[in-house]
Amino acid sequence: MSLKVLVGCKRVIDYAVKIRVRPDKLGVVTDGVKHSMNPFDEIAVEEAVRLREKKLAKEIVVVSCGPAQAAETIRTALAMGADRGYHVDIPANQMDTLQPIHVSKILAKLAEKEKADIVMLGKQAIDDDSNQTAQMTAALLDWPQGVFASKVDKDDQGLTVVREIDGGLETVKLTLPAVLSADLRLNEPRYATLPNIMKAKKKKVDKVTPGDLGVDISPRIEVVSVEDPPVREAGQSVADVDELVGKLKEKGF
Ligand code: AMP
Repeated sequence: MSLKVLVGCKRVIDYAVKIRVRPDKLGVVTDGVKHSMNPFDEIAVEEAVRLREKKLAKEIVVVSCGPAQAAETIRTALAMGADRGYHVDIPANQMDTLQPIHVSKILAKLAEKEKADIVMLGKQAIDDDSNQTAQMTAALLDWPQGVFASKVDKDDQGLTVVREIDGGLETVKLTLPAVLSADLRLNEPRYATLPNIMKAKKKKVDKVTPGDLGVDISPRIEVVSVEDPPVREAGQSVADVDELVGKLKEKGF
């Protein structure tokens, strides 16, 4: 059986950018800041492309829910080897209140519409660090989930997934269809080559709204305040253990 894989790719502030809190303290500065595909989603795309290269997958459909610029994130995934895409249009001013439950509902609808066999996501988006979307998408679809995957193998029964869990690795067998989320060690994503970037421009991207899919994205949270982490106090060097013990005693430890 050749599988159809739906991959979720979020456009996030690039991991190397120093994040700045907005003056109104209701979010972080995004204007004029470099954005990229969420790094775990690059791993998810890579895994889907490898499944197709092994002739286990027949089609890779990428989905990004975001403002106009999310189209660039979709093109990156298409240049890595995905076949076509959905841009789910979210106005920029609604991104702050777009929550994993909204994205999960959108992904679940598209998975049903596309009759996907695997929904492949990143384990977490590095902007909000929610780590909820894969789990909730699986729950909404009532499909098995293999989250924090560091190895995925297919056999006649379904998938065998090695998961990174606290203190070790867990191996689970899943029937298809299933939802997976990619952990860091699953693979090393490829860079898109120039010819593939050119080819990606011709691939099909459908633009839809959450409303088209019957999903209500009205805010369920209100951001009350966003703060910088407290600045760490400067440390002190000590010459030896005796001096360290002396200083600790002075401070009442
Ligand atoms: P999160 O639960 O927000 O940490 O996100 C986990 C994964 O869900 C991400 O790595 C993506 O694969 C997917 N995801 C989250 N938000 C979006 C989005 N706006 N568009 C597409 N996929 C998303």
